[in-house]
Amino acid sequence: MRSTDYDFSTRAIHHGYDPQSHQGALNPPVYMSSTFTFDTAESGGAMFAGEKEGHFYSRISNPTLDHLEQRIANLEGGAAGLCTASGMGAITSTLWSFLEAGDEVIIDKTLYGCTFAFMTHGLPRFGVKVTLVDMTNPENLTHAISAKTKIVYFETPANPNNRLVDIAAVSRIAHRAGAKVVVDNTYATPVITRPLEHGADIVLHSATKFLSGHGDVVAGLIVGSLEDITQIRLVGLKDMTGAVMSPMTAMLLLRGIKTLELRMERHCKTAAEVAQALEAHPAVLSVSYPGLDSFAQRDLARRQMASFGGMIPFEVKGGKAGGIALMNRLNLIQRAVSLGDAESLIQHPASMTHSTYTPEERAEHGIAEGLVRLSVGLEGAADLINDLHAALGAHNMQAA
Ligand SMILES: *Cc1c(COP(=O)(O)O)cnc(C)c1O
Repeated sequence: MRSTDYDFSTRAIHHGYDPQSHQGALNPPVYMSSTFTFDTAESGGAMFAGEKEGHFYSRISNPTLDHLEQRIANLEGGAAGLCTASGMGAITSTLWSFLEAGDEVIIDKTLYGCTFAFMTHGLPRFGVKVTLVDMTNPENLTHAISAKTKIVYFETPANPNNRLVDIAAVSRIAHRAGAKVVVDNTYATPVITRPLEHGADIVLHSATKFLSGHGDVVAGLIVGSLEDITQIRLVGLKDMTGAVMSPMTAMLLLRGIKTLELRMERHCKTAAEVAQALEAHPAVLSVSYPGLDSFAQRDLARRQMASFGGMIPFEVKGGKAGGIALMNRLNLIQRAVSLGDAESLIQHPASMTHSTYTPEERAEHGIAEGLVRLSVGLEGAADLINDLHAALGAHNMQAA
């Protein structure tokens, strides 16, 4: 039976690893080795020339990373995978691999703060034109795209506000113009959406988040065709960013990914309950959760997502001061950036993850100053709702 015939979790646990080829070790050994010896000088030369397979230096490849690369490629439904030192390492290694001065990148208006900074401040310094388009309406891309456009880049759901982009519609428009589609799938994970199946060319992750799931690593992953991944490995990663993942991190990610589906099911179930409780509360102005009937892009959510994720952006009465006060009254939910951990985390995008935008940019890009972003963890739903209710009850009294 081919591995692709197995269920997601079966592949997440077993794909690409046979204990019998590793002295029976149930878990892949961690190859903490920077370099690999050649049996002859000629064989080393052949590896450098790309004529012979094998590992020779861990900035290019490593057996432990190799297991993780095969596993994430399988789970995303792509031909090849690549590990990087961080999500930003995945994004920058990918973009540097395909761009030169004079090219254009088109990005969606809502992106993770550091991605937004790289795109709008970093790339233009090197002669790359970056154009912002509201891709929630794919028609907008039709008007903006040209022969100069090399890459179309977006997140769905987007950080921090859960805006969705129709991957199939955008990919059709991009491919007609000869551009590659790169999707940041950090929020959805391959349990919920597999962008390559909808037409994207490259999918990447901050594996720091749900893929790790335990808040103990900073890491990135990329999946695409063998040709694209080889280009990113040998150009963007090897020569331009050097953003290499440590084998210890790869081991922790292989461990985290074994329980990805199980964890995502619980994140989604609890988030749905918390989103409903928040929406019903009089101190809450709005909740943006794809599983709610009130969600603006509900139809697209149902078409493109198997379930609705663990992230809840919401606004309380009193704007920014109200959001900050709410955060300070929580006891169980932890005040921290990052997301996708066992612990529920809350942060304020305008002053934290999205402080790389100017206030004008945030207003234009749908990131309200009062928005707080909750990453629903794996604790009991009732405990989380009680913590929020206690903080919101005090809020209500203060607002009255
Ligand atoms: C966190 C995050 C990143 C950056 O990843 P790092 O691992 O922190 O470098 C990129 N995209 C999204 C959507 C994120 O949430």
